[in-house]
Amino acid sequence: MSATDFYDFDVIVVGAGHAGTEAALASARLGAKTALLTMSCDTVGQMSCNPAIGGVAKGQIVREIDALGGEMGRVIDATGIQFRMLNSGKGPAMHSPRAQADKKAYQLEMKWRVEQQEHLSLRQELVESIETDKNRVTGIRVAGGVVYRATAVILTTGTFLKAIMHTGESTSEGGRAGEKAAHGISGILRDLGFQLERFKTGTPARINGRTIDFSKCERQPGDCVPQPFSFLTDQIEQTQMDCHLTATTPEVHAVIRENLNRSPMYTGQIQSAGPRYCPSIEDKIVRFADRESHQIFLEPEGRNTLEYYCNGISTSLPRDVQRKMIHGIPGLEHADIMRFGYAVEYDFAPPTQLHATLETRRVAGLYFAGQINGTTGYEEAAGQGLLAGINAALKIRGHPAFVLSRNQAYLGVLIDDLVTKGVDEPYRMFTSRAEYRLLLRQDNADRRLTPLGIQLGIVCPERTRRHNAYENELERGFRFIAQTRFQGNSLEEWLRRPEFTWRNAEESIPSLKTERFSPHCIRQIEIDTQYAGYIRRQEAEIARLEKVDSMRIPDTFDFAALPQLRMEAREKLGHLKPTNVGQASRVSGITPADIAVLVMYLNSS
Ligand SMILES: Cc1cc2nc3c(=O)[nH]c(=O)nc-3n(C[C@H](O)[C@H](O)[C@H](O)COP(=O)(O)OP(=O)(O)OC[C@H]3O[C@@H](n4cnc5c(N)ncnc54)[C@H](O)[C@@H]3O)c2cc1C
Repeated sequence: MSATDFYDFDVIVVGAGHAGTEAALASARLGAKTALLTMSCDTVGQMSCNPAIGGVAKGQIVREIDALGGEMGRVIDATGIQFRMLNSGKGPAMHSPRAQADKKAYQLEMKWRVEQQEHLSLRQELVESIETDKNRVTGIRVAGGVVYRATAVILTTGTFLKAIMHTGESTSEGGRAGEKAAHGISGILRDLGFQLERFKTGTPARINGRTIDFSKCERQPGDCVPQPFSFLTDQIEQTQMDCHLTATTPEVHAVIRENLNRSPMYTGQIQSAGPRYCPSIEDKIVRFADRESHQIFLEPEGRNTLEYYCNGISTSLPRDVQRKMIHGIPGLEHADIMRFGYAVEYDFAPPTQLHATLETRRVAGLYFAGQINGTTGYEEAAGQGLLAGINAALKIRGHPAFVLSRNQAYLGVLIDDLVTKGVDEPYRMFTSRAEYRLLLRQDNADRRLTPLGIQLGIVCPERTRRHNAYENELERGFRFIAQTRFQGNSLEEWLRRPEFTWRNAEESIPSLKTERFSPHCIRQIEIDTQYAGYIRRQEAEIARLEKVDSMRIPDTFDFAALPQLRMEAREKLGHLKPTNVGQASRVSGITPADIAVLVMYLNSS
C-alpha cells in the first residue's frame, strides 16, 4: 500500500448532517484526532426538511446540547430569522424555544465552525465499507479504495442508506432531493450481523414567495424580545422575519381524496412506517376525516431567497395533484412551486443493538447516531451525535463512559428510550416522554449539565467562566431573597405565591433595583422558589427509585438461568442485556413482578 492509500485518525465520523457535525466537534474538542467524512462538503449541517430548530421538547434538547458545549444553539442564534418561545403561557416545564433558520446561512455557519475546529479534518468522501477485525472496528473504506484507519467510527448517515424517493408513481434513488443514496454500508452492516429495517419520512413543496397572496394569510411575527438558544449568546440582534398562516379547505381535501389511489402510501408502493405524529396531508385527510381544515405555516427559507416552506402539507402525491392541491389553498392560488414534496424510504438499525454510549453491542468501537437509529429530527440527531462523539473520544483514552440518566436530561430520556424500548415508528422527543419534566426545563439546562461539561473538559473557557459567575450570582440572589423582608414576610415567601413576581417586589422594595441581578438569574429564582415544593417531591421520588434502579447487572449475568423469571422476560432481557435494574424495568413487556424477581436475585447473589 502506498503512503497515500490510507490515513490514520483516532475517530472517524461518517456523514456531516446534524448528528455528524456535533459528533465530530465533540470528539475533536476532547482532543481526539478526528475525520469528518461526508458525501458533499456543500451540504454540511443541511436541513433536509423544515427550516427551523427547536419546538416543544426539541427546544429543551438544543439547550441541553448547548449546555454541554455543542454547537446547534450558537449556530441558530447566529442565523435565525424568527424566534418564538412556544407555550410561554403554560408552566416553565413546557416553555420551548423555537426559531426559523436562514437555511443556507445555518448550513454555512455550521460548516465554518467545523472548519475552524482544531484536531478536526472535514473531507468530501463517499464511505463504502466498514473495516473490522474480530468484532472490533479498524476503520472505513471510501470510494476509490482509500482506507481511513481509526479506533472508533461513528456512523451518522441519516436518511441515506439504500434510500428511495417517491413522488406519485415516480421513484428515484437518493437520500434527499438532488443527492445520491449510500449503498455499500447497509450490506456490510448486515454481513456484520446487524438487523436493519426501513422507515419513511416526507417533506412538503416549497413555493416562490413572490407568488403568494399574503393578504389572504394571517401574519405570524416572532417574539418582541427574542430569547437566544445558547447560554453564551447575550441577545439576538438581527431583525426578525414574519411567517404566515393559511389552511386547507374542504375542496382541497376533495382533491386529495380523489387521488389517494395515486399516493405511494396508499398504492402499496411505500411499505415502511412513517412518523404518526407528523403525518402527510394524505394521512391527515384519511385519519381525521371529519376535519374540514388543517393549518399550514408558510415559513421563509432565508433572507436571500423567496423560497417558502409549506409546513403542514408534507406529501408524496404526484406533481399534478400537488399543483391542484396547492392552488386550492387561500393565498396560494397562483403559487409557483419551486420544489415538489416527496417521501423517502431508508434503512435504519433498530437501536436496541446499542449500549447507552451509542456504541454497538456487536462491533467494539463502532457507534451509531442520528436518523440511522430510527429517530427523526435535527435536534434528536444532534444530541445523539454529541453523546456518541464524547463517548468515542473518552473510550479511546480509557476514560469512563458518559451516560446521562432520565432525571438529568431529555438527552438521557432519548438514549434510554432508544436502547431499552427500541422504535416502531420514527422516534421524536415529546415532553410527555420525560417522567421528571419539571426538573428538565429549558431554563436550567446549564445548571443541570454545564458542570458535567466542565468535568469532561469539553466546554470552552468562556462557558466555564460564565457558568461559575452565574452560579455565584444565583447564590447571592437566593441569600438575598431569604434575608430581605417586607410586610412581615421574607421575599422568598412572597415569591412562593404564584401571582407574585420579582417585578411586583421591585415596586415595594426600592433597594431591589440596585441589587442588579440579571434577567436569567431573576427568572431562575422565581421558578425555583415558586415550584420548590414540586421540585423537592420529584427529587425525593428520584432518590427513592434510584436505589433500586441503579443496582448493576453484571455483563455476564445469565437471565436464562433464572427459572423464576417468565420466559418472555428471560428472552427479552437476555437479548437486550440491560446494565442496571432501571433499564431492565423499562424494557417493553417487563412487569413489576419480573423486576421483583430480578432484584431479589441480585440482592442475594
Ligand atoms: C425528505 C425528508 C423529510 C424529513 N422530514 C422531517 C420532518 O418532518 N420532521 C423532522 O423532524 N425531521 C424530518 N426529516 C429528518 C431530518 O432531516 C433528520 O432527522 C435529520 O437530518 C437527521 O440528521 P442526521 O445527522 O442523522 O442525518 P442527515 O441530516 O440526513 O445527514 C446525513 C449525512 O450523512 C452523509 N452520508 C450518508 N451516507 C454517507 C456515506 N456513505 N458516505 C459519506 N457521507 C454519507 C450525507 O451526505 C449527510 O451529510 C426529514 C428528512 C428528509 C430527507
